[in-house]
Amino acid sequence: MTELRKCSRCGSEIELRYFSTNRKGEYNKTCDGCLNKMRQYNQNRRDRSKQMRDEIQWNKCLISSDDDEEVKEIKSMLAIKTIGIIQMY
Ligand SMILES: [Zn+2]
Repeated sequence: MTELRKCSRCGSEIELRYFSTNRKGEYNKTCDGCLNKMRQYNQNRRDRSKQMRDEIQWNKCLISSDDDEEVKEIKSMLAIKTIGIIQMY
């Protein structure tokens, strides 16, 4: 029997082999497809806003972070919020 795991991001139930494991050997809560999309998204944002020192600082935080993918995702969401606030002023 194939073990299924529900992705916390897209909500679909996918075979375990489509999930990567983190440093601790636990399966991520997000499927590889979603993780790749998130990485792509972050990469695009990084390319678009090279001139923004604040954003570069944020990305440095994300890259050097030792957290698992889920924590990174939360941090990048916080970064987007912060940048949104900066752009408003
Ligand atoms: Zn997914």
